[in-house]
Amino acid sequence: MTRYKIEIENRIDAARTEATAFLRNNGFFDVAQYECDLDNPIHALFSQAKFLDISHKAYKHMAPALRLATYLVEDPRVLGWFHHQMQGTARPFGNKAYLSLQGVKQSTDEEISFEWRSSLDSLANVLTWRTGDIPDHAHTFLFPEVREAFLDSSLPFMSGTEIQRSKMLVRVHDEAMIAAGIAVKAEDERLLYRAGQGRFSPAIALEKFYPEYFESLPDDMSRLTEAQNEYHLCLQFLLAVTIVHELAHCLNVFPNIKCMTANAQLLDTHATKQEATIFGEAESGNSLERFLFGGRISFANLTLDPSWHELQDRTHTTLLIPAAKTEISRGQYDGRSYSSVEMHGRCYPVTALHDGYAKILLPLQWVADWFRKEHWIYERSFDDCLAPPAVGWRMHVEIPYTGDGDEEQHDVVRMEIFMDVKEA
Ligand SMILES: [Zn+2]
Repeated sequence: MTRYKIEIENRIDAARTEATAFLRNNGFFDVAQYECDLDNPIHALFSQAKFLDISHKAYKHMAPALRLATYLVEDPRVLGWFHHQMQGTARPFGNKAYLSLQGVKQSTDEEISFEWRSSLDSLANVLTWRTGDIPDHAHTFLFPEVREAFLDSSLPFMSGTEIQRSKMLVRVHDEAMIAAGIAVKAEDERLLYRAGQGRFSPAIALEKFYPEYFESLPDDMSRLTEAQNEYHLCLQFLLAVTIVHELAHCLNVFPNIKCMTANAQLLDTHATKQEATIFGEAESGNSLERFLFGGRISFANLTLDPSWHELQDRTHTTLLIPAAKTEISRGQYDGRSYSSVEMHGRCYPVTALHDGYAKILLPLQWVADWFRKEHWIYERSFDDCLAPPAVGWRMHVEIPYTGDGDEEQHDVVRMEIFMDVKEA
């Protein structure tokens, strides 16, 4: 194996340019074919009628993401995580819980598949999608009433009215719990869980950026520039990942509630005991992403500048660098909270603490492959389908350290990009 490495210390914009040039010169952005040729039927969970406020035009342009999402919830090779989630029962682990298959009756693959398909169908009967101002791409609500209250509330999300808003949402949520028969109100006004009773009907809200972007596309997609093609591919991938991430959350409560305390507090569960040991709070969506892609999918532009958010860019041309956060990237620092970069005789503090900023980069060809029929041909094994990129790219970014408030603001960053090429 040969390792190439570039180390960059510079202002954010210059560092981004340098990093991008290094990636581009080494083939990171090379894609043989941008076009999605998947033609599998889109699952009923994602039929147009399920998207309550998306135009036909936007929906048509979303088809590649919806076809990929369909594979990711239906293809027998990638269903291990879902099957475990569906069959497992919650076991306590400290103040957390994980899903165990111990004591679960042995079923054949066929029986599990059948059960899984019927769960998806019954979820499709209740699930709907709406769009709005959603921090963090998307959000799953336990009841459509709560989602509507969230979206229709005219209060801006991060503001002084936040507390009022969350109180209102808790009230709507409690009322829906009682109406669904899941909980009853005790004399002291607390909710009490009625084990085995009632059912959630999950509802998902997607960031409105997605339909706005897809709505803005030309009918003739061959008119897109190279940069727009790169951006579009990343966006389709991001949407597919976001969709299956939210479905993972739905499964914590549907068809069965995995873990609820006596006073009707819902607990998200870790998929396995090992996961509960490694990670803090359970996050089903992240757990599924780690299973499918080897890490949580994010876009590296985000890390080059903490104030920069990929979904706020409305030009649709900014380069996105797909990346995955993995547990391997944790704990590799020596305990210092920051180091520094020296430039023009001055020292700029940069953070060395955020373990999340070390990432595996995902070349665009690897992203594009998910959207090709050949990726999903019957003969390919589980390992082939979920294989990590052949060239191992990693990136480590240290962003400006903003200590205790008395540090001068600056935008100097340190980046390292590694490229591991296997010998032929
Ligand atoms: Zn999540």
